[in-house]
Amino acid sequence: MLKASLRSHLTLWFAGLSLLTLLSVGFYVGHIATEQMKQASGNALLNTARSAASLLGEQLRERQLEVYLLSRAPHLERGDLDNPAILKSMQLRTQARAEYAWMGVTDAEGKVHQAVNGLLVGQSVQQRPWFQAGLRGEYTGDPHEAVLLAKMLPGLPNDEPLRFIDFAAPIHNADGQVIGVLGAHAHWSWVTRIVESAAFAHKNSMPDIEALIVDHDGKILYPEALMGQQLAATDSKLQNWTAGNGFLTSMVSVPTPSSTALSWSIAVRQPLETALQPARLLMYKLLILGVVAAVLFGLVAYYLALYLSRPIEQLALSARQVQNNEPGAQFQLQHPVLEIAQLGQSIDAMTQSLLGKERELQEANASLEATVAQRTAALTQANAELLSLATHDGLTGVYNRRRFDEKLTEYTLLFRRTGRPFSLLLIDADHFKRINDTHGHAVGDEVLQQLAQLIQSSLRTTDFVARYGGEEFAVLLPEIAQPDTPEVVAEKIRAAIDEADFPAIGNVTVSIGIGLADPADNSHNALIKRADQQLYQAKAAGRNQVV
Ligand code: GH3
Ligand code: MG
Ligand code: MG
Repeated sequence: MLKASLRSHLTLWFAGLSLLTLLSVGFYVGHIATEQMKQASGNALLNTARSAASLLGEQLRERQLEVYLLSRAPHLERGDLDNPAILKSMQLRTQARAEYAWMGVTDAEGKVHQAVNGLLVGQSVQQRPWFQAGLRGEYTGDPHEAVLLAKMLPGLPNDEPLRFIDFAAPIHNADGQVIGVLGAHAHWSWVTRIVESAAFAHKNSMPDIEALIVDHDGKILYPEALMGQQLAATDSKLQNWTAGNGFLTSMVSVPTPSSTALSWSIAVRQPLETALQPARLLMYKLLILGVVAAVLFGLVAYYLALYLSRPIEQLALSARQVQNNEPGAQFQLQHPVLEIAQLGQSIDAMTQSLLGKERELQEANASLEATVAQRTAALTQANAELLSLATHDGLTGVYNRRRFDEKLTEYTLLFRRTGRPFSLLLIDADHFKRINDTHGHAVGDEVLQQLAQLIQSSLRTTDFVARYGGEEFAVLLPEIAQPDTPEVVAEKIRAAIDEADFPAIGNVTVSIGIGLADPADNSHNALIKRADQQLYQAKAAGRNQVV
């Protein structure tokens, strides 16, 4: 499982959700705006088409009416097709109206009797549809190219073919019989100009709009470039406008009198691209706003998350430090978010309690170690004391008899190996029994202690002193350089004791017997025996002397 910090989680969620929300809103609003734009533009197109259609219808009706009124002139009713007053009226009409290209009167056989500017007079128009239709009733026809008049009228500047729409009305005599037709040709450009002017009055508010004139079959009559093409049929009764083929189109039929059988429609259309541009712009703006807002939300979320997650991250770090026994653990005890503060306080309390326990444990350990050390020291001392007790004499502090025996064996072995002789002095207090008897046993002990000290201080550190028994001491002198050395040492001891003052007693003397190690000795008892004999002799010789 991918693990990311709280900060990343919150930031991503906030930014993602806001982006999602704002993009959805953007698309939704864009969609609604598009639909409303379609509606609004479609309605505007419809209004434009309506006004163009009604204007054109009105103009066509007026021309038709003019032709009709002229056909009902009294001269004509009387059958006087050549009356100059008729020509006069027609000339006045065509002069007043630039749209008329031709106006004339024919008899029932189609022969032109008189016409404005004398055009076509005397010729037959019997084959012309307007004449045929004019015999039957009032007529307004679809546009057509000039047939008879093409060579007689000035051409159009851009070489477009001359195109007319025809008006015609029958001429009746008093008996109601048709005796001729009054016809007029109007320039097609007059029609298109009416439509253009009506449609393009709103060009500023509706860019790129196009006005089309469509005949009853849905064929395009105007503009020239699209002429003859079929305009996708739309049911303008059900729908005011349609969106299709890249255009938003509104179509309205031109109101013309039913008698003329002319059923044109005006279609006004605008490219969808243009019509919907404001909606699309709005949507783009919303989408950009969405992205910007998502970034801002993300930033806000990041800082909010930082605010929330920093203490938690610090808690996690500190908990880990406590876990790993590292220093520097710090718990935040105050935070505006209640749970974070509580968490910090709880973990801090837990840590303090843990640390306290650990400290107690350490202290207990330390005191245990101290006790062990103490006990060990006491034991060591006791051992040392025990060792000392085992080898020393309790009263005098010099070595005891046991240690003396060991030492003597050691010296004897060493002597046998190296051949370097050593000597033994046996020292016995003179008349000690008397001291005990006179001064008591305790004073005797003190004397023994003083004797031991005196002997010890008369010797070198390498020499060995032991209490041999009772009031007897033994001294071992290793490696004697000169044969008389033992005597010198013994004499030194004897003199030191002899000269020493013993409190409460005064003078104490000793007798010393000397024995020298002999390679011939087969046991160390031989040496002791020899020294003992010497001692005996010293006693016998009067005591206080060395033998
Ligand atoms: P001499 O050696 O000169 O012949 O006479 P002496 O009195 O010293 O005779 P001996 O060596 O036979 O007597 C030793 C006496 O020392 C016997 C005993 O009462 C005494 N003595 C032995 N050990 C101790 C002791 O530890 N303390 C005391 N106070 N007296 C002791
Ligand atoms: Mg003795
Ligand atoms: Mg003695």
